[in-house]
Amino acid sequence: MPAFICTTCGTQYSPSDAPPAQCIICEEERQYVPLSGQSWITPERLAARHANTFRQHEPGLISIGSLPTFAIGQNAILVITPAGNVLWDCISLLDDATIAVIKGLGALKAIAISHPHFYTTMVDWSRAFGCPVHLHAADRKWVMRPDPALSFWEGDTLKLLPGVTLIRGGGHFPGGTMLHVAQGADGRGALLSADIATVAPDRKFLSFMRSYPNLIPLSAREVEGIAAALAPFGFERIYGHFFDRVIASGAKAVLAKSVARYLAAIAGTARGPME
Ligand SMILES: [Zn+2]
Repeated sequence: MPAFICTTCGTQYSPSDAPPAQCIICEEERQYVPLSGQSWITPERLAARHANTFRQHEPGLISIGSLPTFAIGQNAILVITPAGNVLWDCISLLDDATIAVIKGLGALKAIAISHPHFYTTMVDWSRAFGCPVHLHAADRKWVMRPDPALSFWEGDTLKLLPGVTLIRGGGHFPGGTMLHVAQGADGRGALLSADIATVAPDRKFLSFMRSYPNLIPLSAREVEGIAAALAPFGFERIYGHFFDRVIASGAKAVLAKSVARYLAAIAGTARGPME
């Protein structure tokens, strides 16, 4: 039986004879069902139509994404450290080439995922590399393919490996998680923020949304929560959820000015009365 994948969000469901009747992720207000309607693909057909591409941002950080783009256009980031490798976030396509490349780089100690829009085919990845998938327990209800390899963590931080730490920021989802990599940016620290803190197209600011496709903002309290979660951590660089969404330097200051701008915008104090 195939484990069908939603073509709009990339989420894989438990194996079934026929495709699921609906995608629960896409029908929720943070996602959407396209005008053309719900459609599904099997992992085999996905692998026949797409391939994965790899981009090294800096030593030890390699983005993985599919071409042509599939679903939301998710990227994963392979974090390579002396203590082992972590796959940050996940993408739907796991083909033989990807397995061979990652095994050649030392395989995986763990997979960790920021929020449900990146859960994709996490169970297939876990089985291919024999490693656990760390998800925040607050988002447990959005798992569409339960599996014993899924490890639900609670609280505000979880150290995966030396210098590799999960940080719960909440916001976009209650369990919304970011990854701090201490060795990143030549030891000054890198934050893999996914879209818990989204790198804007100008690469000068971050922003924060409950839904990006449906344009639902977060409250001041939620954005202050993200900032508070990151306060104890030092980082020079931020990698967002797409290949090219990177704040290369001064990222800690960018976070501070971005939070201030957001709070002023929703408080109505951002501009003068005549602007
Ligand atoms: Zn979906």
